Amino acid sequence: MPAQMQQILDAINTDLRDDPDRGEVASYIPELGQVDPHQFAITVATADGQIYSAGDATTRFSAQSITKVFTLAIALGRSGDQLWRRVGREPSGTAFNSIVQLEHERGRPRNPFVNAGAIVTTDEVLAGREPREALAEFLSFIRAAAEDDDIHINADVARSETAHGHRNFAHAHFLASFGNLKNDPDKVLGTYFHHCATELTTTQLARAGRFLIGADCHPRMVSLDRVRRLNALMLTCGHYDGSGEFAYRVGLPAKSGVGGGILGVVPGKASIAVWSPGLDRNGNSKLGTEAMERLAREMDWSVF
Ligand code: GLN
Repeated sequence: MPAQMQQILDAINTDLRDDPDRGEVASYIPELGQVDPHQFAITVATADGQIYSAGDATTRFSAQSITKVFTLAIALGRSGDQLWRRVGREPSGTAFNSIVQLEHERGRPRNPFVNAGAIVTTDEVLAGREPREALAEFLSFIRAAAEDDDIHINADVARSETAHGHRNFAHAHFLASFGNLKNDPDKVLGTYFHHCATELTTTQLARAGRFLIGADCHPRMVSLDRVRRLNALMLTCGHYDGSGEFAYRVGLPAKSGVGGGILGVVPGKASIAVWSPGLDRNGNSKLGTEAMERLAREMDWSVF
């Protein structure tokens, strides 16, 4: 299998990295708009501890919404099932930054992976502390999961998003108006923008995702019961309005981010990270999705 896996990843990298039909880089966060779209990386971390990579797997990219998986894991660790009083578990069928459902659902976001839901989980992690303390907990979780301390937050990206984050400010204040924010909205968003601005390579991300493989995977960050729940939410909600399409094409739990990364999980077998900065109309990596689809097909990986 090692030789075969490396060959598959090399072929995916060769075929996809020059594909001109690569989508658009996110520009609503100006700092992300500067990223060269002609980059591509893929890494697989297997349950038995092997790492396989192809492409720009040592280049760091902005994790953005992929961090919502880690924030959710921490929030559930702190608050348990109480968290679900404040945020739902249903796919949204709307864009990641859509605000309309929040009014219909009386300030309880549809799920923890749309922005409003992640602002709530961030609020839960903040829990009366200073943003610095909550971010330290977040970083120590993701570093421990990756077993790599060289994972950091890019302050320029966080600043860039803060300066243009009107819609997220609207979300936070809307949540507060329904009494679904415990901390000061500015502090919650300061924490949220910073964890979104975490930068890592596909190698680091695939390693950080190993705790979601379940089985006897190392390192164990949360209970196996919780791993199953996190995977269920990634499968149903991880790609926003494109979650059904992703499940149909790839068939694996996964979470995307507007930095162009995707973290996918093959339960019991592997964690996969791909990165290509160009996005489709739902804000999910276009070539990243194609890479996942191809890898899943060639490895015969699916939860179905
Ligand atoms: N920080 C980004 C935002 O709030 C994350 C969005 C994403 O990656 N889908 O808009």
